[in-house]
Amino acid sequence: MNCNIAVIKGDGIGPEVVSEAMKVLDAIGAKYGHTFNYEQLLMGGCSIDVHGVPLTDEAVERAKAADAVLLGSIGGNTSTSPWYKLPPEKRPEAGLLKIRKELGLFANLRPAFLYNELKGACPLKEEIADKGFDMMIMRELTGGLYFGARETKEVDGVMTAVDTLTYNENEIRRIAIKGFDIAMKRRKKVTSVDKANVLDSSRLWRKIVEEVAKDYPEVTYEHMLVDNCAMQLVKDPAQFDVVLTENMFGDILSDEASMITGSIGMLASASLNETKFGMYEPSGGSAPDIAGQNKANPIATILSAAMMLRYTFDMDKEADAIEAAVQQVLVENYRTCDIVSEGTELVSCSQMGDLIATRV
Ligand code: NAD
Repeated sequence: MNCNIAVIKGDGIGPEVVSEAMKVLDAIGAKYGHTFNYEQLLMGGCSIDVHGVPLTDEAVERAKAADAVLLGSIGGNTSTSPWYKLPPEKRPEAGLLKIRKELGLFANLRPAFLYNELKGACPLKEEIADKGFDMMIMRELTGGLYFGARETKEVDGVMTAVDTLTYNENEIRRIAIKGFDIAMKRRKKVTSVDKANVLDSSRLWRKIVEEVAKDYPEVTYEHMLVDNCAMQLVKDPAQFDVVLTENMFGDILSDEASMITGSIGMLASASLNETKFGMYEPSGGSAPDIAGQNKANPIATILSAAMMLRYTFDMDKEADAIEAAVQQVLVENYRTCDIVSEGTELVSCSQMGDLIATRV
């Protein structure tokens, strides 16, 4: 297969970790007979330095023309970098918001997986960590409270702020369909999370999810209130497969789920639109404190590339091969500085990329 990938290395550790992901993709290409064509685009601080804006319209058009986008991370030290003296719409993060909007990326996927070898980093009780967990948080990304009308005004002499939480049935249906589609590629269970005991938007959410569920008889589904879900994530995370939820609940629950894995450098993510197109990136930021030192953990970006193979290119066995290679290097006790512990071997970012590439 011939795959056209827009590559946005970005700032900080972005170029280091994306180069390792490309190394692993090329190893997959060589083994399975695929060609990965890369077109490098600028976004974030590096684009500000060259073009004066965090993302040019030309870069957006080129990203749209690709099959998928592989992103490192953008931004710098928010206290010291000159990028943060610019007005908000010119700062690095404005590029990220713009590209998500332009590409119509409404579904955000964040896997939270506890590796047996990294259980020591899990902050949960040993008997809970011992059971392990492997879930996918699916968050609606372009609707709800973060995009509704808002204002702060004086009402009868009292300062009053209003935020609006709006969802229409089409927005709910398209994310629910994605959620059930993804469950079909996993353990076939969906937990739809809402606050239907209070919110109208949640009652509509529940109704539409139930309609969509009828088209997926193989998938078991349940509804869970968001407050209960927040508790269950720390009490019994092994129960979850796909957790399907709206924007703000997903924002909070996905951070909670990533915390219980114990390492930000291991967490992949994907943002998808209605087609097979997606943007794939590590969950962490540009880590300016370790940038340029060949110390960063490239695994989150390498696993993001595996998600790209699975969800954009339908290459399940190639994605499995990357995930197995990552597991293998952990079993062999290789660790980057963020996950190193007594009795394990410290390796650099590029060594970790080499180790994984040779094991695919
Ligand atoms: P961060 O995730 O960059 O760093 C937090 C801590 O985690 C740091 O100690 C860092 O060294 C460590 N870390 C992160 N990724 C790592 C990796 N792969 N390997 C080893 N250690 C890793 O968060 P921050 O410091 O709050 O933000 C730094 C910059 O990143 C800011 O400009 C922020 O706006 C930006 N940011 C960008 C994105 C994105 O591009 N999607 C996401 C979050 C933050």
